[in-house]
Amino acid sequence: MPAMIRHAFAITLAALIAACAAPAPPAVTAASPAAAARTEIVWLGQSAFKITTPGGKVVVTDPWLRTNPLTPVAYKQLDAFGRIDVLLLSHGHFDHSADAAALAQQYNVPLRAPSDLNQTLATLGVLPANLLPRMNKGGTIEPAPGIKVTAVRAEHSSIYVWRNPASGKDETHPGGEPVGWIIELENGFRIYHAGDTAVFGDMRWIGDRYRPDLALVPIGGHFTMDPADAAWAVKELLRPKTVIPMHYGTNPLARGTAKEFVDAMGSSAIRVIVAVPGEPISLP
Ligand SMILES: [Zn+2]
Repeated sequence: MPAMIRHAFAITLAALIAACAAPAPPAVTAASPAAAARTEIVWLGQSAFKITTPGGKVVVTDPWLRTNPLTPVAYKQLDAFGRIDVLLLSHGHFDHSADAAALAQQYNVPLRAPSDLNQTLATLGVLPANLLPRMNKGGTIEPAPGIKVTAVRAEHSSIYVWRNPASGKDETHPGGEPVGWIIELENGFRIYHAGDTAVFGDMRWIGDRYRPDLALVPIGGHFTMDPADAAWAVKELLRPKTVIPMHYGTNPLARGTAKEFVDAMGSSAIRVIVAVPGEPISLP
């Protein structure tokens, strides 16, 4: 490209970028165009989140809602979501999976879960095969236009407990290997949803490889990282721009608190947001 044309091209490009970056008018409602340029996060208790993307799509994670003591009353009605474009489940435990099948059916949205868990759900007839696509760790898929999802390791376990309608008894079935999720939105904003996990060394790799803008990490302890481990993992390994603690306050054994997590984060430059269930958090 001749220098003058290259220069003109650069100016045009700069003008275009400047135009794109021009400050938007204040958001009026969640549906306004200004709000659409941001990501809205609503914590629904435990590891359940409703994420509204800059393009207006809705991603739901680990939906334990109807019997979750922290879920706002409005979201115990499963039609509260309006739409669901991507439904993610990290593993088979009840406090993550309880309402996954019901949401998949109600919104006719495929359930994205570890492939061996989905195989169990298919074998048991919990959902029809078309709502149980298979994927595994390392794979990146685009379950809705512009939304990329990658399953990554989680250091945990996974079974699926199913009440057999014929016997009325609970049965324990294989739940596949648990996962965390990298969720990349239309504008490149990356969220790491850790699922249930202990600290593991490859969190550094996740931080290096995916550079999450936002990390959602369990802090309750006993079954997962506690506040001290979670803060260490966030500061030393994951290094996101923002972190929201999850998976606490619902089980008497998992005693970790948000205050302990905030204290453990200390003077770190990483922004800590303590979510209030049902209250939207808007991020750029
Ligand atoms: Zn679990």
